[in-house]
Amino acid sequence: MRYDVLIIGGGFAGNYLARLLAGKLEVAVVERKGSFGGKACTGIIGAGSFEALNLPEKAVINGLRGAVFHSAVQSFEVSRKRTQAYVVDRRNLERELAKEAIRKGADYFMATNFLGFRGRRARLSHLKEEFEVEAKFYVGADGVASTVAREIGSKSRAEFLRGYELEVLGEFRREFAEVWVNKSLNKEFFLWVAPLGDEVARVGTFGELSSLERFLRLRNLKPTSAIEFKVGVVGLGWREPWVGGNTALLGDAALQIKPTTAGGIVFGAICAHHLARAILSGEISSYEHSCRAVRRQISFGLTLRRVFLNLTQEGIEGIFRILSSEEARRVIEEEADFDDHLRTFKAIAKRPRLLAGLLRVSPSLIRALL
Ligand SMILES: Cc1cc2nc3c(=O)[nH]c(=O)nc-3n(C[C@H](O)[C@H](O)[C@H](O)COP(=O)(O)OP(=O)(O)OC[C@H]3O[C@@H](n4cnc5c(N)ncnc54)[C@H](O)[C@@H]3O)c2cc1C
Repeated sequence: MRYDVLIIGGGFAGNYLARLLAGKLEVAVVERKGSFGGKACTGIIGAGSFEALNLPEKAVINGLRGAVFHSAVQSFEVSRKRTQAYVVDRRNLERELAKEAIRKGADYFMATNFLGFRGRRARLSHLKEEFEVEAKFYVGADGVASTVAREIGSKSRAEFLRGYELEVLGEFRREFAEVWVNKSLNKEFFLWVAPLGDEVARVGTFGELSSLERFLRLRNLKPTSAIEFKVGVVGLGWREPWVGGNTALLGDAALQIKPTTAGGIVFGAICAHHLARAILSGEISSYEHSCRAVRRQISFGLTLRRVFLNLTQEGIEGIFRILSSEEARRVIEEEADFDDHLRTFKAIAKRPRLLAGLLRVSPSLIRALL
């Protein structure tokens, strides 16, 4: 068998790229699991990105138009009239993308494991039966523990965090996410609540499981009222190179993840567009450079992450006091971009009063912003 492109991994990124390339080139996708989805992922995607990336509406479970931010002692709310983010079902998201790719001519090999390369061919196994496939280009979209990355000699300089997420019954405001930034609950990350409706929400964090347990108690949610529990890993940092010979990495395999929120769907999709163009032009080596806007965002996110890890709760309370002011909330409501944190922070930094306030409570944050 010979294809133009063999995509290894039928998660979000692999299916998204397959949809972009199918019909233009001979494309195949190899997916280890027998069905799509199942990954630990809250599934929050900024509404602007969701629409710009033309993601399938069938995947949407709920729309969020605001968020309530909680520190240890304060809270404030930001909201807009229009939906700002969607919570999606990963299984449906991946299935719908795969269906579109198949309709355009892509081949799918489900329950098929990529084992490694032998010369110019990919070694695959399906139910213990081994076979080989050849392609002009290979794409490793096989997630954070990428076998393809190992095969092409990519090295990681990253912080790997375990994430926990459960779907739990409780009382929620359907259109409002909750973000809790409280170091006595979790030193390493914030905690989130993403409602699927008034009765069920996805609740999670990264770091230690005990952080999530403490949070559930504080938020009056019972672990025994959970109807789903998932564990996953994200890598915040760099895995390079993204290209080795005729093989490229995409999505979590390349650690295309926001270090501030651990969201990877949008960056994976943006990079898929760059990779599709590079493959179609036959110049796969241009891919990494053409993703420079995403690389800048990752780099900025890593700086913010370092600032966050060094902040005390007192510092967080100081930042909350400033962000909860009317002026800051207006900037967030009018100018914040769910997927472009650099732009959001630049908008805040343009306001002299906010900038001076932040400089007073956290000089390191301002150094990072500037
Ligand atoms: C707790 C948690 C919450 C998150 N919440 C969000 C969120 O709200 N929003 C957001 O944008 N991101 C979120 N993320 C990150 C998001 O899940 C990832 O960035 C996204 O799944 C990356 O997609 P991907 O296709 O690159 O990788 P994956 O989704 O991991 O897909 C990789 C695919 O490759 C397959 N595979 C692996 N090895 C092989 C092999 N050898 N052969 C064949 N197939 C193989 C796997 O089975 C899998 O289907 C979250 C992550 C975690 C852990």
